[in-house]
Amino acid sequence: MANSRFEYVKQFERENYLLPDTYIIIRVDGKGFHKFSQHYQFEKPNDARALQIMNRAAHKIMSQYSDVMLGYGDSDEYSFLLRRGCELYERREMKLCTLFASLMTCYYQFFWREEYGEEKRLDEDHLPVFDGRAVVYPTFNHIRDYFSWRQVDCHINNLYNTTFWNLVIKKGMTPQEAEQRLMGTVAADKNEILFSELGTNYNNEPEMFKKGTIYVKEYEEDYQVVSEIGLTPRQKQRLEKKRKKAKIVQYHIDIINDNSWWDSKPWLME
Ligand code: ATP
Ligand code: ATP
Ligand code: MG
Ligand code: MG
Repeated sequence: MANSRFEYVKQFERENYLLPDTYIIIRVDGKGFHKFSQHYQFEKPNDARALQIMNRAAHKIMSQYSDVMLGYGDSDEYSFLLRRGCELYERREMKLCTLFASLMTCYYQFFWREEYGEEKRLDEDHLPVFDGRAVVYPTFNHIRDYFSWRQVDCHINNLYNTTFWNLVIKKGMTPQEAEQRLMGTVAADKNEILFSELGTNYNNEPEMFKKGTIYVKEYEEDYQVVSEIGLTPRQKQRLEKKRKKAKIVQYHIDIINDNSWWDSKPWLME
């Protein structure tokens, strides 16, 4: 584009390049999904089909971007781990955040239609949209703690919601009464209420609800875990080719305490 006297306005733009040689996590979260889930009459506490829509969207994103090594999601959120050496969009924060939020938004709508067809049509006043943010972390310990944080959040919310909705559905409590009943209770109390008052053993709830969903890239055995710093462009290309061949494997497991699960995937650390 030829220079024009208007071009100076470009100088007002500011760009944040995410710190090099750090892990990037991008988290997307549905906007106003509390209302959204009411409007489309999600099953409470967990609508499994809605969770699968999230999962399929996340899986699609991971299959398209070789830099994404791991995804973790529950409720209306998903976190994606980008490898340390990631150079996608020169690590420009705005590009990455807006890209992931819009990928999630459009795939969610696409898979919604696939899942529900005419059964639940999206209407223009209640469309699903997602926001996105990026955070960089210096060590893999931070990454483990980050995903532990999200999984603990999933657990706390799910235990609360499971108890809350069982009180409403099985005991006919109003939402206010159920909220009142749960005020000040700790996890053990909720387990007990579920078990002795509501005939539900929390342990037997589906793993996807209790643990969330983990997608991880798994490679052929010959994928070497090396830092890319100092590699020639050709060597980098070869690694990229291998990354593209990764399989995406799904888990619903405890990622907080299972060290051997993490240890068996050293490529995540790069
Ligand atoms: P915000 O725009 O700030 O994110 P929000 O209403 O989306 O607001 P969240 O904290 O993100 O608030 O919570 C998402 C809510 O969406 C949950 O509390 C739950 O009510 C609902 N929800 C999301 N997914 C499901 C699902 N699969 N089944 C049932 N309810 C769900
Ligand atoms: P980036 O991802 O960096 O934005 P881009 O390919 O989207 O890459 P832009 O600078 O945004 O690059 O340019 C958009 C391009 O899309 C235009 O150069 C033009 O070729 C094409 N394009 C967009 N809208 C139209 C349209 N309505 N009709 C024809 N071509 C279009
Ligand atoms: Mg939300
Ligand atoms: Mg949320």
